[in-house]
Formats: sequence, structure tokens, C-alpha cells
Amino acid sequence: MSETIFSKIIKREIPADIIYEDDLCLSFKDINPQAPFHALVIPKKPIEKVSAAVQEDKHLLGHLLLKAGEIAADQGYEDNFRLVINNGEGAGQTVFHLHVHILAGRPLGWPPG
Ligand code: AMP
Repeated sequence: MSETIFSKIIKREIPADIIYEDDLCLSFKDINPQAPFHALVIPKKPIEKVSAAVQEDKHLLGHLLLKAGEIAADQGYEDNFRLVINNGEGAGQTVFHLHVHILAGRPLGWPPG
């Protein structure tokens, strides 16, 4: 997988507002927030998108979701938040390093558009 802006954030080559880190993942505020709270959770392993994940990533993918819920709760949004993963250009993915969006702090309509 080629270098992305997110791999540069992992390596601290470019700045980000980091709110959580462990050995498997990193979470930081989205630079263009779509809700009062908008953060991303990314695996440190460079996986391009969900559809590029493999069986051995099962634990890692579960970890990202669990951490996303914990991060939302830590920010005061225990019950009302949305997790979004855009997979592929046609679905709105612009950075090709897997990431979970956490959105909270305003009413979230459906369908998402
Ligand atoms: P997606 O469209 O699902 O690929 O989401 C990519 C997200 O990354 C967008 O919400 C961008 O605002 C966000 N983003 C891009 N560059 C940065 C950055 N340097 N720091 C934080 N968020 C970023």
C-alpha cells in the first residue's frame, strides 16, 4: 500500500489532534469536522479499505470498533454517535488507509446521503 496522509500522521511526520493511541490504532480529530465531535480511528497497520482486509485482520477490525465506542463515550457521547466507514471512491473514500469516522453532537439523519 502506498504512503497516505494517515501513515504520515502515524509516523508524526505531519501534525494531528491525537486523542487516543495504543499499539494497534490511532485516533485523531477530523480536519474537516462534519459534526461537533468528528474523529477518525485508524489501524496502524496500513490496510487500504475494509474490502482489502483479510482474515488475519479480524481482531484488529473488532478492536477499531470497540475503541471507537470507548472514544465516543470518553468524549461524552456514550449513547448517541455514528460510526461510518467509506469503502472505495464511489462510496466517498478519499484517503486510502482504512478509517472509522466517529460522528456525534448533533442529530444524525438517515439515509446518510
Ligand atoms: P473519507 O472521505 O472517508 O476517506 O474520509 C477522509 C477523512 O479524512 C475526511 O473526513 C477528511 O476531512 C479527513 N482528513 C484528511 N486529511 C486529514 C488530516 N490531515 N487530519 C485529519 N483529518 C484529515
